[in-house]
Amino acid sequence: MADAPRPAPLRCGTIALIGTPNAGKSTLVNSLIGQKLAIVSPKVQTTRTRLLGIAVAGAAQLLLFDTPGLFAPKRAIDRAMVSDAREVARDADIRLLLVDAARPAMPDAVGEVSSEAAPTWLVLNKIDLVAKEKLLPLAARLANEAAFKQVFMVSALTGDGVTDLREALAEAVPEGPWLYPEDQLTDAPARLVATELTREQLFLQLGQELPYAAAVLPESFETRPDGSLHIRQQILVERDSQKAIVLGRGGARIRAIGEAARAAIGEALGAPVHLFLHVKVAPGWPEDARMLRALGLAGPHRT
Ligand code: GDP
Ligand code: MG
Repeated sequence: MADAPRPAPLRCGTIALIGTPNAGKSTLVNSLIGQKLAIVSPKVQTTRTRLLGIAVAGAAQLLLFDTPGLFAPKRAIDRAMVSDAREVARDADIRLLLVDAARPAMPDAVGEVSSEAAPTWLVLNKIDLVAKEKLLPLAARLANEAAFKQVFMVSALTGDGVTDLREALAEAVPEGPWLYPEDQLTDAPARLVATELTREQLFLQLGQELPYAAAVLPESFETRPDGSLHIRQQILVERDSQKAIVLGRGGARIRAIGEAARAAIGEALGAPVHLFLHVKVAPGWPEDARMLRALGLAGPHRT
């Protein structure tokens, strides 16, 4: 028998998603990440850029950046975002230019972006909405407008073509160590982002003292095949009276907390969220040092 094949060298690279709003950038990021959700943080990772997520494909770690507002800035804040986005796009190892195949508008600035040193790939998205025989001529026409190194046709929504794109990216990013530790290749960071956002709602929606008597524990966190997140969390309180406050009259308070947290988590993680909250009375939990560490409770927080 032959020896086991050597493991492939590690690869790691940055990928900037560019394209007009609604082209499907966020949907494609979710689709590229798939089940291997590693980090999707609402926190700004540097002063300029937002790391959307990390996809893992074989030996490669793909760091995905959204570059919102790259084109046609109107307000000053948009112009500022555009110059930041240009930097992200310029510095990325690979740029993916998404074009909505059903409404194929080529962004004006694409020539400018494409002229930079790093390669730009054309990704024709939403191919599920367009007749097959129209796709090739469309791709050919777009490819005429700028020098794309590769062209892909995908449906970020159905996942059609996304595996090919992911594998091509994995082969194209440079060899090098992963920039994020391997142990972050679980959903733990996203899971904690989710509990923090629920805890934030406790602070926002309840009286002053109660949130300090409450904690949010992650129970389960699953990515469903449709890309949505199914999240269960436990809200721990110390006394029955506190549980009654969290629940509110007829459950109105917990519904409002759950709804606001669901929206915030969905926005932060870029996916539809189904959130299930359970309130549990656990006397003495704030004295349990191990529990406190497990909860990462280090005073009030901001996201
Ligand atoms: P972004 O503004 O570029 O981030 O675009 P989004 O990812 O938010 O997508 C904009 C809209 O297009 C959403 O309603 C998506 O569900 C939809 N969309 C994205 N990708 C596809 C696709 O491949 N097919 C279809 N039919 N719709 C898609
Ligand atoms: Mg988006």
